[in-house]
Amino acid sequence: MKQLCWFLLIVAAATTLLGQSDVRSAMPAKLTIPPEAQPSAQFNIEAATNAYLAQMPPAARARSDAYFEGGYWLLLWDFLYGVAIALLLLNLRWSAKMRDLAERITRFKPLQTAIYWAEYLILVTILGAPLGIYEGYFREHKYGLATQTFGPWTIDQLKGLAINLVLGAILTMALFGVVRRLPRTWWLWGALVTFLLLVVVVLIAPVYLVPMFNKVSPLNDPVLTQRILRLAHANGIPANDVYMMDASKQTTRMSANVSGLGNTMRITLNDNLLRRGSPEEIEAVMGHEMGHYVLNHVYKGMFFFLVLIVVWFAALFHSLQWALRRWGDRWQIRGIGDTAVLPLVMLLSSIFFFVLTPVLNTSVRVQEAEADMYGLNASRQADGFAQAAIHLGEYRKMSPGPIEEWIFFDHPSGRNRIHAAMQWKAENLALFH
Ligand SMILES: [Zn+2]
Repeated sequence: MKQLCWFLLIVAAATTLLGQSDVRSAMPAKLTIPPEAQPSAQFNIEAATNAYLAQMPPAARARSDAYFEGGYWLLLWDFLYGVAIALLLLNLRWSAKMRDLAERITRFKPLQTAIYWAEYLILVTILGAPLGIYEGYFREHKYGLATQTFGPWTIDQLKGLAINLVLGAILTMALFGVVRRLPRTWWLWGALVTFLLLVVVVLIAPVYLVPMFNKVSPLNDPVLTQRILRLAHANGIPANDVYMMDASKQTTRMSANVSGLGNTMRITLNDNLLRRGSPEEIEAVMGHEMGHYVLNHVYKGMFFFLVLIVVWFAALFHSLQWALRRWGDRWQIRGIGDTAVLPLVMLLSSIFFFVLTPVLNTSVRVQEAEADMYGLNASRQADGFAQAAIHLGEYRKMSPGPIEEWIFFDHPSGRNRIHAAMQWKAENLALFH
């Protein structure tokens, strides 16, 4: 249940924000430029955009619209389901009982917190399993996006749970330590502690966490590697390696991303993109990823998260006091320093992040649009980029309304991406003689 583990969700967002361009396709790995998008004196941006959009069969579009719009409802169901679980744990006093159990096992406070965290995480995972399995397994298979059978999928989930168990225990031990020592200013110091752990996780993720799920290796195609490294060096990126990942183990989506921080920062493309993307398309996607790198989106994203975490903790500070005054006795929670408060923290946090959904999506989408522009300028592959946008359209709605895009899209829509590419082409027709 992702909304119940906000910290890890943020980590996941921070490590993937930086540029997923997932795509799935039945289209051949060859670029087909429609007649309307051919360079000519009559080149028309709207006509070229529409011609590319028309490459997508209506049935494929209906399917991706259904998948993506279903995701809007899942946002709501995830939120409500998480709220229901938290209220259950509080009102049935299961949370207080889990705390009592942890206190019976040990008298050492930090260890009590870690034990409570383990009890909490396992219980919430079990209660959340019906929706989690539908969402993560059956629904993905229904739309042809998943490649794993139930056994390997479950093993991946258990690995995620183990990571969550360890990182969550470290974070809760640190946070409750801060709360108990600094009852008036814990929100500020707690936010900084949370941010520091986030930095560490982003730093180690490509080296230690990603390899737990997938095999990451240097790209074994010398011609393509040359092409990508030339693009990198021309853009001032001192890279000597390009990485690839066997994402086809889990999914049919094409993707590439920038991950890590400082020395661990790297660009990785997945094997679906390698297999099904045309060379022009791969170059366009790589240009986009390099945009994230050159424009320092990782660092800007981290700064945004720092501000967000401080605001989140300040909101928690006030709302926790208010809620505990009203219902603390009934839930048998002794105060903010009592681990039994955790479901309440998760409940209030899920409200905070649910309300902020459009803000979070927009902050990522703005960077994605910047990386798109950078990628077009760097790679000069406007048609490859349009093809990538169509590939993406197999699971992301192509032509949403403007408000819909603002609320739900963490990348520009396919139509807007193709339009931007065709505008770029129209302004650079001289390059195509
Ligand atoms: Zn991106």
